[in-house]
Amino acid sequence: MTDTKKVRVRFAPSPTGELHIGGLRTALTCFLFAQKNKGTFILRSEDTDRKRFVKGAAERQLRDLYWAGLTIDEGCVLENDLIVEKGDLGPYTQSKRLAIYTKYVQQLLDEKKAYHCFCSADRLVEMREVQQAQKLPPKYDRKCLDLSEEEIKAKIDAGEKYVVRFKIPEGKTQFDDLVYGKIVVDNETLDDLVIMKSDGFPTYHLAVVVDDYLMKISHIFRGMEWLASTPKHVLLYDALGWGEDMPEFCHMANILNKNKKKLSKREGSVSVADFRAEGYPKEAIINFIALLGWNPKTEQEIFTMDELIDQFDTAKMNKAGGVFDLDRLAWMSKEHIKKMSVDEIYNEAISFLQEKDYFKNATSERQDESYIKKIIAVEQDRLEKFTQIGEDNQFFFVDVITDKDLLKWKDNSFDETKIVLTKAMDILSNINEDAWTRENLENILMDAAGDKRGDFLWPLRAALTGQKRSPSPFDCAWIIGKDETLLRIHKAIELI
Ligand code: GLU
Repeated sequence: MTDTKKVRVRFAPSPTGELHIGGLRTALTCFLFAQKNKGTFILRSEDTDRKRFVKGAAERQLRDLYWAGLTIDEGCVLENDLIVEKGDLGPYTQSKRLAIYTKYVQQLLDEKKAYHCFCSADRLVEMREVQQAQKLPPKYDRKCLDLSEEEIKAKIDAGEKYVVRFKIPEGKTQFDDLVYGKIVVDNETLDDLVIMKSDGFPTYHLAVVVDDYLMKISHIFRGMEWLASTPKHVLLYDALGWGEDMPEFCHMANILNKNKKKLSKREGSVSVADFRAEGYPKEAIINFIALLGWNPKTEQEIFTMDELIDQFDTAKMNKAGGVFDLDRLAWMSKEHIKKMSVDEIYNEAISFLQEKDYFKNATSERQDESYIKKIIAVEQDRLEKFTQIGEDNQFFFVDVITDKDLLKWKDNSFDETKIVLTKAMDILSNINEDAWTRENLENILMDAAGDKRGDFLWPLRAALTGQKRSPSPFDCAWIIGKDETLLRIHKAIELI
């Protein structure tokens, strides 16, 4: 590939289920690289495995990508929530490209670089068992390699099923991977792979090579699990006469669990949809995913998408797998929520809040946008997810039931507690509604507390919240408002 070749990268998901965290990482890497190099980010749907096809999965995967901020320039894009194809090098859905694959398979057959194979599944199983018993690597034994034209024709005419296999040439195959460096394999170790299945569909290996070439892909980013297939792809490029236009390969290390094993679905949430439903901001998910396998080599840990684009560099990709650490995600999430505006948090969080019983049971005043935004302003720095709004402080929504003993600070008596609460009541009832601000309340109540903070502020906070732990009494008073504050103090005094 020449340096001047335009950057064109593709994400090529198979519509077999939800978008996985690993898939999002591949897509994000493509996106960052394309953005950084003013290139094109293409989405191709690899839907040739009809057995694993899941209806609606392609749409859901695309929605998740767009949700995360990865807009697609070409290929299968979303318009009005529907998948449409955009671009001149389509179709971008493999099942619509069957005639193209057939043409290239025929070319390889004509040039004797591929051959028909009529072996039954049973025979192949038997062959493998024998190889296993002899501790040989599983490899097709080329029984069908030398069938004559007549034999082939006779079998096809008789309705025998066949696949087409690529004949691995002799020699060695070599390529440079942007992460793993120079890879050399002895072709002896490679199996004559099937390129066309008996249903007339191409296999992944053929389709990926044909499509990447015809779609002028410059760089291939994909998971490590495809590294071992790449020599076969290199051989196919050569066999098809495209060796000069081979893309760059960049394989990404596995995402690992805490035990340093490859992350699997068995470990709970690994789909983007799950994390989304759990209330993590997309900025945090993107930040977290980006750093799984890519190291900016600075102290910085919190990145916006623009910063990621700016600093992304394939030279900083790790060979070792990145560990998927949920505590780190939670920390990043908290840092991103801190940076958001109250309005932004409100827009993201409101749908989660509306699902909560404490919200559903609240009066309409307490469901009001301006009321919730005050809660957000107070809780913002502690939130790890949007779902947590109000969770620890349900007294903002529903009435409190205070435990009498909770009102007392340390060894103070009930009488002392009553005096303190009465004093608070007096002070607060003298503050005008328009002076009922967060700042004023803090100044006035801190003044009143003097150096006896616990004695004064504890009973007040307990009266307002009914909880041992909560935001400060000034913040709570500010949120619930003057009337409710006085009412709760009054109830607490009555309780004593
Ligand atoms: N369809 C393949 C997958 O879902 C894509 C592999 C590739 O990028 O070449 O993993």
